[in-house]
Amino acid sequence: MVSPGEFRLIDALLEDGAFEPDVDEDGSVSYDAVAQLLDDPDDEPSAVLEQFATRGVLNDEFVSKVYVCPDCATEGLQYTTVCPACGDPRAVETAVIEHVCGHTGPESEFESEDGYRCPDCEQDLESVDIEKKHRYSCRACPESFDVPDDRLRCRECESLFPPLETIERVLYRYSLTDEGEAWLEHQRAARETAAAVLEERRFETEIDTVVDEGSRPVHVLAEDRLMGDRRIVAISETPEAETVDAFAAFAESVDAHPVVVTTSGTVQREVAERAERSELTVLAFDESGEGSLVPEYETTDSVGGHRTGLFQRLTAALEVPSRGSRQ
Ligand SMILES: [Zn+2]
Ligand SMILES: [Zn+2]
Ligand SMILES: [Zn+2]
Repeated sequence: MVSPGEFRLIDALLEDGAFEPDVDEDGSVSYDAVAQLLDDPDDEPSAVLEQFATRGVLNDEFVSKVYVCPDCATEGLQYTTVCPACGDPRAVETAVIEHVCGHTGPESEFESEDGYRCPDCEQDLESVDIEKKHRYSCRACPESFDVPDDRLRCRECESLFPPLETIERVLYRYSLTDEGEAWLEHQRAARETAAAVLEERRFETEIDTVVDEGSRPVHVLAEDRLMGDRRIVAISETPEAETVDAFAAFAESVDAHPVVVTTSGTVQREVAERAERSELTVLAFDESGEGSLVPEYETTDSVGGHRTGLFQRLTAALEVPSRGSRQ
């Protein structure tokens, strides 16, 4: 089921072109524009975007990668070198001098009042004889070494990980595909048709609105204040039992009759069964002509799987009992 927030998100892409990841100074990633469009019950922005990309509604273009802490999920791990012997990051690169006598030590050990002198064999050194090298020395243990180990450090829990043990997260720029645009048009037409059909029945309708203050948004809210009748409409490609159940429970909590519109002409079998035995109206959006809602639809056992071909017929569209008498 596409939520009103998800619908808003795809709709916004028609104007905005694309959603870019925002990478903060501390390396954390967000899709701020997306977060503002979604509602509380929706998934995380990146999860929603990924899901639409999988369905072919959005195109995902590679932008960059960030590394995530496997322990606490903080994003933006920082690179650091560590001592290969003890693993401590206090391994720092220093300039060392190597004397032909075999003694090697930091430059400061060789410095004397008038130049350089080997602290081991006490020979004065000409500056031309001095070969400076860069080496790591560890401040946590006596080890010194040429090549340190690589680690990624979490700024939150301060753990250090070999880079390959962290979680690599790929960041994408998301734009609408042609298929996505057609999909959006189809969903939008279904929503507008649902509102129009209810308006013909003297309901006052509102698209993408909340039912009561603070409640979650619905695709269409239709109210007949005189009759005390209220209906809410969910638009869904292939309605699934789990989301329809949640939608029906929400409808009950706001004393509204739930209407589910399938835009593919198919619903999951449990949804059809529920419509037969409880207060739930299921309709299919037929795009031919001006667009209409019809009470016939097919059922499928698995969403995304093949259709069973079982043809459902329900009572006429939207002819559901008024709930006004229940007040
Ligand atoms: Zn020496
Ligand atoms: Zn060390
Ligand atoms: Zn962490």
